[in-house]
Amino acid sequence: MTEEKVADCEKVIIIGSGPAAWTAAIYCARAALRPLVFEGAITEENRLAGTLPLGQLALTNEVENYPGFPVGDLSAYLDAAIDPSRRAAMAPHRGHGVSGPELMELMRKQAGNFGTRIITEDIVQVDFRRYPFELSASDGKSYRALAVIVATGARANYLGLPSEERFKNNGVSACAVCDGALPRFRGKPLVVIGGGDSAVEEATYLTKFGSIVYMVHRRDKLRASKIMAQRAMTHPKIKILWNRVLEEILGNDQDGVTGVRLRSTVGEPELTEPCAGVFLAIGHTPNTAFLEGQLELTAKKYIKLTTPGRTLTSVEGVFAAGDVADDYYRQAVTAAGSGCMAALDAERWLAEKHPE
Ligand code: NAP
Repeated sequence: MTEEKVADCEKVIIIGSGPAAWTAAIYCARAALRPLVFEGAITEENRLAGTLPLGQLALTNEVENYPGFPVGDLSAYLDAAIDPSRRAAMAPHRGHGVSGPELMELMRKQAGNFGTRIITEDIVQVDFRRYPFELSASDGKSYRALAVIVATGARANYLGLPSEERFKNNGVSACAVCDGALPRFRGKPLVVIGGGDSAVEEATYLTKFGSIVYMVHRRDKLRASKIMAQRAMTHPKIKILWNRVLEEILGNDQDGVTGVRLRSTVGEPELTEPCAGVFLAIGHTPNTAFLEGQLELTAKKYIKLTTPGRTLTSVEGVFAAGDVADDYYRQAVTAAGSGCMAALDAERWLAEKHPE
């Protein structure tokens, strides 16, 4: 490749804006790679899909397990660290330690402090068959890069029921932290579907607003970690409905959700419970649709990493980090760690491929 061709390319483009993307950006920026981050577009479509900038952590409340943030009031530190306009737009948080949105704003700022450039658009198409790689953004522009780090994360799943679709934004949500405080849910029974950590987290959060929170789980044992499961089972406002699946969400256009019809998985009679809200917490789908045919994906559509313990993908020069390539750990701290690994992999690969 000619020198000119390399010169008018980005060295590294990072796609995504969760802990993996920002950590990759911090490392790339400090390695003088001048990373360009596509953090995602702010659109209604992305809001409904749960793919707005700053990813899933922006949709959570308290983050109790990210190391370095024990109990404490971070307000003064956040005031000093975050740009005033973004700080003003952040929801107040008086919890113990850091919140998801706060953690993401801090990481974004840290990446920016080292010279990361950020574009608030989606990458909608990639051509990894050409080199330099070509990426098309949602603003209609094209970008070329010598290396790419994909860190687009995953988004919440829905069951696919027609009634679920009908009442989305009218009592049905996949994010308690985003929607739970709405007046429609205050003092009313609420339902959470799922038995994992997310379901417990959503249910616990919703106890602040609902009169009672039913967790509907299809088995007789929670998938959630022991400490979280214990929390759900002992909470005075959470009632677990075991061996049940959601058949239909009941309601009307005026009031939205008014109840749920639940089928038993063990032959019990059907159950109808009145409620004002249904919150889905049944796992996630990786954000890889724009990579179909360009990168090798797993059967569950996660990016396939080709070398154990590394961030290499089926295309040389394209690296993956965070939940988009991880259906097992899916933690903020593991995502951040893999973002660091992707940056180091990209840096070393570039040094070999394009020695100065
Ligand atoms: P998950 O662990 O995969 O749990 C999904 C839950 O939804 C399971 O209980 C599953 O039932 C149920 N489910 C899936 N499809 C369903 C369907 N079609 N109908 C009914 N139920 C269905 O997902 P997650 O809770 O989102 O957690 C993902 C990862 O993030 C985990 O590693 C978790 O530890 C982590 N996380 C951690 C925290 C924390 O530590 N604070 C908070 C949130 C998430 P089965 O159990 O029967 O499969």
